[in-house]
Amino acid sequence: RSTKRASLLQSQNAPAEAAPVTQQQQLADDLDAAIVRGQLFLVHQPKMRARTGQIEAVETLVRWRHPEHGLISPSDFIGMAEQRGEIRRITEWVLRQAINEQRSLGACGHMMPFNVNVSAYLLADREFAQWMLDTIRTASAPIGIEITETAMIADPAGALRNLHLFADAGIRVAIDDYGAGLSSLAYLKQLPARELKIDRMFISGLSTSHRDPLLVRSTIDLAHALEMEVTAEGVDSASTMALLRVMGCDLMQGYLIAKPMPLGELRAFLDTRDAAGEPAIPVAFPWA
Ligand code: C2E
Ligand code: MG
Ligand code: MG
Ligand code: MG
Repeated sequence: RSTKRASLLQSQNAPAEAAPVTQQQQLADDLDAAIVRGQLFLVHQPKMRARTGQIEAVETLVRWRHPEHGLISPSDFIGMAEQRGEIRRITEWVLRQAINEQRSLGACGHMMPFNVNVSAYLLADREFAQWMLDTIRTASAPIGIEITETAMIADPAGALRNLHLFADAGIRVAIDDYGAGLSSLAYLKQLPARELKIDRMFISGLSTSHRDPLLVRSTIDLAHALEMEVTAEGVDSASTMALLRVMGCDLMQGYLIAKPMPLGELRAFLDTRDAAGEPAIPVAFPWA
């Protein structure tokens, strides 16, 4: 592997006009080894049922602790991993690790669904989908998947076929970042998804903008008409939360409720809420 890496760097440097190895290339190179060196870890962000305040599930997000650059956000390395063909190995690691962490949380009395993000590049890969399905089934783990609509572009037929495999096996499929990309009614019509996650860009301005409330409300109604549940992403203020409740939003996720946390912290968070006997969210429940 190190020879392969060395030759890769060499070939990138070979042409006369080539710049020296950039920081970006170095980072991409480090990513190859990040898994075996144990530099990846998971954080989990609670998802709250709007009506009851119950934490029903978590979204599992990957993090990279780089020895020199510190904590690196997935926004800064998932794209790279996709281009380098590393995304499959990373996603396999994420799923296995998520199942392990879910099991240990379950052993502490907090069994709940974990939702992992599946990259566009993998969604249409039949072999990968089958591996995922087998892994989830073998573990009997309540794992859901989140996909963005852009996932459908490269190979819509392949992606759709695999999504049906998941849905038929009872795996909950959520459409992520809805509204941020190429949201098309054609996808809403076809995708076997049970959940629609409205992108943070529409939620953050909810209590201050004129248009966002209209867009969010009509999206909620649309999703409900299609028998999908709606999750709002990026709920970070009490006024936003109150508005979403009025609008009939089903689930909420955001810094107001909880930030993404490593397993130990998540467990403590859930224990505290249970002990309090009520949702420890700093907001009134006028419409509950
Ligand atoms: P996403 O799936 O839409 O995840 C939600 C992102 O919003 C997370 O960023 C989360 O930390 C952030 N967030 C949650 N609540 C709030 C809030 O109230 N305010 C603000 N400002 N941000 C909030 P994160 O963890 O950096 O992840 C970014 C993206 O990276 C994810 O977007 C997802 O597309 C991708 N990603 C993360 N983990 C994985 C993974 O394991 N596999 C794949 N393929 N993609 C991943
Ligand atoms: Mg997501
Ligand atoms: Mg999202
Ligand atoms: Mg996002």
